Amino acid sequence: MTEALRRPASERSTGVPGGDPAGELLGRRWREARSPTAVTHLDAAGAARQSRATIAAQTEFLRAEAELGAYVAELTAADVLATARSTLAGLLGPGLTADGVVFHQSASAAFAALLTAWRLPERARIAVVPSEYGSNRLVLEARAAGSGLDLLDLPVDGRGVVDLDVLDRAGIAGAAAGGSCGLDEVDLVVFPQVPSQRGVVQPAAELGRRCADAGVPVVIDVAQGLGQVDTTGLGASAYVGTSRKWLCGPRGAAFVALRTEVIERLGVGVPSLYSARSAAGGPPIALAGAARMSVGEASVVARIGLAQALADLAAAGPSAVRARIAALAAHGRRVLDGAGGWRVRERPDSPSGIITLQPPDGVDPVAVRDRLFRDLQILTSAIPSTRSRDLRGPLLRASAHAYNEPADLDRLARALAGRAGRG
Ligand SMILES: *Cc1c(COP(=O)(O)O)cnc(C)c1O
Repeated sequence: MTEALRRPASERSTGVPGGDPAGELLGRRWREARSPTAVTHLDAAGAARQSRATIAAQTEFLRAEAELGAYVAELTAADVLATARSTLAGLLGPGLTADGVVFHQSASAAFAALLTAWRLPERARIAVVPSEYGSNRLVLEARAAGSGLDLLDLPVDGRGVVDLDVLDRAGIAGAAAGGSCGLDEVDLVVFPQVPSQRGVVQPAAELGRRCADAGVPVVIDVAQGLGQVDTTGLGASAYVGTSRKWLCGPRGAAFVALRTEVIERLGVGVPSLYSARSAAGGPPIALAGAARMSVGEASVVARIGLAQALADLAAAGPSAVRARIAALAAHGRRVLDGAGGWRVRERPDSPSGIITLQPPDGVDPVAVRDRLFRDLQILTSAIPSTRSRDLRGPLLRASAHAYNEPADLDRLARALAGRAGRG
């Protein structure tokens, strides 16, 4: 054990989050619901820990596939999958139902399918943010290049948060906007509620209201928001999200959620026998309803795992889980800022569970992430600058879920202050 690890947790810690017995009880329950591990998990924003119940649901389903036949097993699990879609609709509502929720294999693939299906006029304008997730940005750029549409940046402040005052006063500026234009002059607004590479939360509900007033549809990427911040009342036409991050589900499951009134206006996402039918000579015709966004063959077991993870969340109470995550992030920012010269990039009271750390000069976050895991079994993420066009250089990211303890963040702070933090 290194010198840093032998020091008592209290040395750097400024105390547990507000002496919060309810949060600590929830934390203990979530830890006990998971298998013990020697690893300090601080990567919920990359892939969170699954509960034992989530793992058990998947192994049982795999057995059912082998015993009953995979398609029969899927049919027998129809209720479980419908409940999961309904829970997702509830977490994103009002205005959504289980019928509008379609499983995909990743949020990126769901976003690509959605943008393919979205009908846009000639020379359409899509308003975006600089913090857009890299893969989504590539989808938007491909669509822009293919059909000559324009991507306009919504005004943001120094932290990348959409500046509603500037938007109200001056609209959307830039050459692509012909100098400047109002929200009512764009055809679609797209943004991640919580970016991957910044510990901020967009004012999604307020922006959603402005878009509704302007009659502009909105697509919100909740891959990083769902499960850790409130995603209700945002008012978007469509959402994409993923299982393995703050929902604590397995990899390879994700979804697109569509408000009822947009479904019939969409074309086909990914043409296949599951989403479309052939029209002799013409382009494929979309199947009725949200089926037009279906992907067909998939890892159904991953969806079963997601369903159990959603049941875990519903049982614990989504708002209690969110409060626990926010308290841990606040504690983390207190103890991590300045440790070994690393600087927390967001405000101490930011409502996101994501903590991003700017390295000291000359320190490589990839090397530090590797060393933290190899030497100390602390799991974090290194964010490459390709993740988003608003990044100037690579970062280290720490993200604690409800199952973490303040001591986990203290441990990371001590490690960064020690040899591991120098890369
Ligand atoms: C992770 C992430 C995605 C992509 O999700 P996948 O399931 O990996 O495709 C999209 N947007 C944001 C903000 C993300 O953090």
